[in-house]
Amino acid sequence: MTSVDGLKSIPKRILLKLSGEVLAGGSAGGGIDEEILKSFSRVIIELSTSGIEIAVVIGGGNYFRGSRLINFDRVRADFMGMLATILNALAFENAIERNGGSVSVLSAIPVTGAAEEFNPRHACKLLETGEIVICAGGTGNPYVTTDTAAALRAVQLNCHALLKGTKVDGVYDSDPEKNPDAKRYDSLSFTRVLQQDLGVMDGAAVAICRDNRLPIIIFDVTDPENILRVVRNPGIGTVIKGD
Ligand code: UDP
Repeated sequence: MTSVDGLKSIPKRILLKLSGEVLAGGSAGGGIDEEILKSFSRVIIELSTSGIEIAVVIGGGNYFRGSRLINFDRVRADFMGMLATILNALAFENAIERNGGSVSVLSAIPVTGAAEEFNPRHACKLLETGEIVICAGGTGNPYVTTDTAAALRAVQLNCHALLKGTKVDGVYDSDPEKNPDAKRYDSLSFTRVLQQDLGVMDGAAVAICRDNRLPIIIFDVTDPENILRVVRNPGIGTVIKGD
């Protein structure tokens, strides 16, 4: 594997953050594209079979984001968003199981009968047995997004890296879709991301990772196979590490 400071060997346990939107594919109406879900499930199973312990935090943006509604009680709206993440988590669980994987959904919000409640010790035990763990319901608290949930869960589960899949292949100094001369960073410090407000994840998420020395890798997940590639070679994305 390419040697990247802070990630000198293939991480044994990772947290993968996917936005809900990746599950919708190009569908304008949102929801879930079953073929895309199947592709992601197969890749995650392949990674797990190769011996990497994998936890997944999935967003809910393909259904709902609390901040979208104006003139709406924010706390209620955010709970609607968190419920959307549970829809995606259950869909993922179904797809992984159907493709032969071993998986559990642990939810921050009780959904008796559908998923167990999130408990970090239990989650770690499942990961140790090779089970894929999907963390649903975000943090269980409003005013943040699933980026923060991903950072929190990654730290709680002693993950070695947080992989955030996006629509672009890393972090740029300006929007590469608008500026053809935008410069892509191979690596960045946490402080620079926060000071320059590079918008790669919520500030809270970046701060949690910085304070707990957890590297973040931002990479292009429009091709699900990139998940396999980035674990072996984080250099295909942007690595955020160091102070
Ligand atoms: N959300 C929340 N607390 C959390 C995680 C999520 O309130 O800990 C709500 C928030 O309204 C958010 C929505 O759930 O907009 C869906 O999550 P997110 O926007 O992160 O989804 P993504 O963009 O990753 O698909």
